[in-house]
Amino acid sequence: MVKLAEWRGKEIFRQYGMPLPRGRVVRSAAEAASAVAAGSVPLPCVVKAQVLAGGRGKGGAVRFASTPAEAEAATGAILGLEFKGERVREVLLEEKLPIARELYLSVALDRSLRLPIVMASARGGVEIESVDDAQILRVPVHPFVGLTGYERRRIATTLGLVGPAVRSLDTVLTALWQIFEREDAELVEINPLAVVGDGLTALDAKVIIEDDASFRHPQYAEVRDDRTPLEEIAREKEIAFVQLDGNIGVIANGAGLTMATLDVLQQFGGRPGVFLDLGGTDDPKKVTEAFLLMAKARPAAVFLNIFGGVTRCDTVALGLVEAMKQVPPAERFPLVARIRGNNEDEGIAILRSAGVTSLHELKESVQAAVAAAGGRP
Ligand code: GDP
Ligand code: MN
Repeated sequence: MVKLAEWRGKEIFRQYGMPLPRGRVVRSAAEAASAVAAGSVPLPCVVKAQVLAGGRGKGGAVRFASTPAEAEAATGAILGLEFKGERVREVLLEEKLPIARELYLSVALDRSLRLPIVMASARGGVEIESVDDAQILRVPVHPFVGLTGYERRRIATTLGLVGPAVRSLDTVLTALWQIFEREDAELVEINPLAVVGDGLTALDAKVIIEDDASFRHPQYAEVRDDRTPLEEIAREKEIAFVQLDGNIGVIANGAGLTMATLDVLQQFGGRPGVFLDLGGTDDPKKVTEAFLLMAKARPAAVFLNIFGGVTRCDTVALGLVEAMKQVPPAERFPLVARIRGNNEDEGIAILRSAGVTSLHELKESVQAAVAAAGGRP
């Protein structure tokens, strides 16, 4: 999932002819001042934090300015923000348009229908989750056909548009659909889509690109702002690795067992800091690589919870023992292991030869991991 910042979404919008406010992205207050002075952002203007989280309007991350000095000050203030845990590094400045009404329009993949679905509502500008279901029109779109004329008219009626605004909606819908299809998007959302004068303008842009299609869109490869450097390396090596804010490293296999292990650790007072899902690997080298990556995250302790199936216990043990030899002494961490299942006895013997005891029960092993990380047992 590649989630694009608003300004990147709008760059795509522009390529497809979506009506947009004039604007520019800046990275400092001084740059904001010169953008306004040069006239590339008309006044009054809107100053918007370029973070991936939503709800910026309510959260003080969207401000207004009517003089160059105000634009500079607002940009400076927003650049100093940490919005929902995200540092603001970029700010979008745009002309402030007189909004008559705020609408909602999006296209997303509906997995239960197995079709793209266009959603439209006259209640825009608020989170769509908070809008009454009856006020949202859902139009499944056959990918071979695209949006038909009568579907477009239904959407126009739902949005309460007449006259020239209907032609403007046609432009918007065509762009929306083409972006979804040609850019392999999971979601293209405009909220709000504003009625300005007798036309429409996209004031916000949320675009999520489908990961599995990223080979067709190398231009999005540079957009990885939401991954940590270690997650980035893991991704290149095709290792499922996620950093959280606790201090215990969790290595398990399979999404279900990995998630359950995080939950049980939490339940016993532990704080998972990073997790790694070995999946169904049968290559000890791959296991070694994954462990070394875990070591780089500098966990206070690591809890290994393996249920051997396709991934055999001895494969994991071999990979682990090899990795332990390679971790520099300064970066070693206490390891609590629990390996059960396929080739369990062989795995336990390999671990024992390296001085690691495999615990049998989930509860005792989780408690040992929490204690090893310095938390309460
Ligand atoms: P979000 O809250 O993170 O989704 O940020 P939005 O881009 O949707 O902006 C939040 C709100 O700011 C919008 O719903 C509008 O009410 C307001 N806003 C954004 N751009 C403009 C603009 O050009 N003119 C005016 N008047 N209001 C704007
Ligand atoms: Mn919005």
